[in-house]
Amino acid sequence: MVLRIGVIGAGVVGLSSALAVQKRLAHAQVDIMADRFTTYTTSNGAGGLFMPRLQDPDVLDMAKDSADFFYSLARSADSGPSGVSFINGFYLYNGDDEQFPVWTKLMISVRELPEEFRTMYEKHYKHGCMMTTAIIEGSKYLPWLTDRFIANGGRITEKTVESFDELAGDYDLVLNCAGLGAGKLANDPTVHPVRGQVMHVSAPWLTYFVNSDDTHYFFPHSEDAVIGGVRQPGSYDLAPDPQESRRMLREMEERLPPLKGAKILSDWVGLRPSRDRVRVEAETVNCRGKQLKVVHNYGHGAFGISLSWGTAVRTANLVHQALTARSKL
Ligand SMILES: Cc1cc2nc3c(=O)[nH]c(=O)nc-3n(C[C@H](O)[C@H](O)[C@H](O)COP(=O)(O)OP(=O)(O)OC[C@H]3O[C@@H](n4cnc5c(N)ncnc54)[C@H](O)[C@@H]3O)c2cc1C
Repeated sequence: MVLRIGVIGAGVVGLSSALAVQKRLAHAQVDIMADRFTTYTTSNGAGGLFMPRLQDPDVLDMAKDSADFFYSLARSADSGPSGVSFINGFYLYNGDDEQFPVWTKLMISVRELPEEFRTMYEKHYKHGCMMTTAIIEGSKYLPWLTDRFIANGGRITEKTVESFDELAGDYDLVLNCAGLGAGKLANDPTVHPVRGQVMHVSAPWLTYFVNSDDTHYFFPHSEDAVIGGVRQPGSYDLAPDPQESRRMLREMEERLPPLKGAKILSDWVGLRPSRDRVRVEAETVNCRGKQLKVVHNYGHGAFGISLSWGTAVRTANLVHQALTARSKL
């Protein structure tokens, strides 16, 4: 009998999870259902830097799987088509601990900033380091994941899922990868938006990133560059604020003087699907008397691109466990 698995969500988390499940359970029929795709998802507009600035050892374990996956893609012939490549840059931060933060162990070659670079940041930050990591461009990576999913026999439907009740009976198991929408489906009131605003500019002479432990960053992509940012918990406002854009550009130019002269292209707003901690967990949901196995994978907040592959692998393992060891759910 063919196993039927439904995935709610077509952002980076839903697509990665669907692909990871196809790899883990080669004979399952996997269907993605979502009300927004590629360009219209938060994942498409994210800065896309692989930098999971977190401390939780379990989450960093999942991030390690992402690191292995993205670094291997960046080394492969799929680097161009997938939009995943290596990037060098600076990380600037405050705090009293002079040690590099714990997550830097997932970066490639972290080193102290040479003294002559101090002027770049000493007015705003206490510490800085240089590192190599990966950049994942959503506008290329989401279509690349989608193509792979379809090539493996996956099906995609445009649909808003109001409740798990609609899916009980049609699927052996459902993945909840609905980003900000996941909270309503799972009845989890802790899911909330953290509004972000970015500005797209053209500055092809700047090929390195600058990131910080506050809201300021500059990430070059292959065809433009992204300047951030904003962190507004609780706001659902999707309209860019022109005053914020001007502030971001001015403050980023102070931190990165070579940015001067960048051509402004566009503004974009996205809502980070946030929670105190990412949720990758299995449960059995009672749907009007029918039992439905659900694996949740949501609440990635500011680090969803970075954590996507690692949480997808954990999700696929939970799916395998739930469908092979029936008593566990
Ligand atoms: C400005 C900004 C910059 C960022 N920069 C980075 C970065 O540099 N690095 C990084 O790692 N992360 C970054 N992030 C975070 C990252 O973008 C998110 O964590 C990630 O995109 C979340 O992915 P997702 O798939 O969970 O959600 P989404 O991309 O929002 O996808 C959710 C999907 O679920 C669907 N859906 C929701 N509800 C329903 C429903 N009821 N029925 C059917 N479908 C539904 C939607 O249509 C969509 O397809 C950034 C975010 C922002 C806003």
